[in-house]
Amino acid sequence: MISFPDEFIAELKGIFGDDITEYLNRADDEPFKGISVNRLKTDPERLIPLLPFEVRKSPFYKDGYYYSDDIQSIGRHPLHHAGAFYVQEPSASSAVSLLDIHKGDTVLDLCAAPGGKSSQIASCLGGTGLIWSNEVVKNRAQILLSNYERMGISKGVVSSCYPEVLCDRLEGFFDKVLADAPCSGEGMFRKNPDAIAEWSREHVRSCAERQLSILDSACKAVKEGGVLVYSTCTFSYEENEGVIKEFLRRHQDFEGCELTEHTGRQTELSCAVRITPIEGGEGHFAAKLRRKGECTRSVKPALRSKPDNRVSDVRKMLSEIFIKLPDGELSIINDKVFIIPELMPDIKNAGVIRAGIYAGELKKGRFEPAHALFMASHPSELRQVLDMKADDERVKAFLQGHELECSLPSGYTAAAVEGIITGFGKCSGGRLKNKYPKGLRLI
Ligand code: SAM
Repeated sequence: MISFPDEFIAELKGIFGDDITEYLNRADDEPFKGISVNRLKTDPERLIPLLPFEVRKSPFYKDGYYYSDDIQSIGRHPLHHAGAFYVQEPSASSAVSLLDIHKGDTVLDLCAAPGGKSSQIASCLGGTGLIWSNEVVKNRAQILLSNYERMGISKGVVSSCYPEVLCDRLEGFFDKVLADAPCSGEGMFRKNPDAIAEWSREHVRSCAERQLSILDSACKAVKEGGVLVYSTCTFSYEENEGVIKEFLRRHQDFEGCELTEHTGRQTELSCAVRITPIEGGEGHFAAKLRRKGECTRSVKPALRSKPDNRVSDVRKMLSEIFIKLPDGELSIINDKVFIIPELMPDIKNAGVIRAGIYAGELKKGRFEPAHALFMASHPSELRQVLDMKADDERVKAFLQGHELECSLPSGYTAAAVEGIITGFGKCSGGRLKNKYPKGLRLI
């Protein structure tokens, strides 16, 4: 049985009111589990019939679904490896719904690892605009990058930078900014009861201070007329309504956006919503703010790579693999080839660890393509694809790193599951030499 500190229960009473008994009665229920479908790779109509488990629509996000309690190791499913969906607690998807992404938007996800919300944002952008995902903790930024590659995000940037530094560099650049701040995690207590031991009034207070300082930075990156969404996975008044009220007091150029439609609990702020297990999620709070003024973007000069006469050779080598290359500018940095998004600003010292697609490497004049290039591609863009059904034994063998029999002509070949690319290999003499990265292989 989960047991909560008395002080915590006293605080919850202020939030839940008469529903506190219902919340406490549900404390030992199985946590809600969910997935978000990645439209860069598929869509719900195509994906859901292929899943070997039942799903049910979540009210919190247009492409969010619950899946049943008893599914283990969903991350080992081939369609997960292929980036068709992201495993995400259902209420965590609500903040991106408030962002209301439109095609062509520029979006900053300031506290982005491991990448659930970035993956939703990229899915909504559908390969247009620009998503910039930042994570201050270096090793978490690497996990974010790995999820970026799995989800096939091409018009994106991953950085690891302090919010105050990054948002100064990118002042006024974004249509939409998400600050999904680190918090005391009260909404995760059913999933991870051990975290309850870390709860204290002092911890809540220090989280609130850090959240305000993150928001003080985040707001600089929002253009005039742009949107700032703040979210946490905690119930605490101090970390949620308290932070927003203090932020609006400090930043009079921002105002709350009234939420006319939402699927959570009302809060005392008309611009914010809270989701609890009673509404069908583990716990999330999100507030939507707008920077006053006309919609204008402070235009940053686009990054232009230095002229490099090897680019046309690389393009020629790429055209042996691709019918249509992913769009963007080919750039060669220390023999590594990238396809840079059109809207990538020319910014220095922003901790960028990836801009656009890592396409491959030049080795002794030869181009060796990278896993990330294939993951960001569609079968129709490639010259050669080995497409397999999800239950085909060869899919498992491929994900384990084995060579496959393959009667296709010699050359680089994408491996796809149910029409979704999951990696690549090199065909020769009736075999597909496996290039699935060692760190991702099924064991
Ligand atoms: N948005 C992520 C997602 O959907 O997958 C989850 C983000 S998590 C709630 C908050 C993130 O903020 C963590 O990855 C944490 O490392 C990062 N963080 C910790 N301290 C920070 C700080 N001072 N400034 C900015 N981010 C911080």
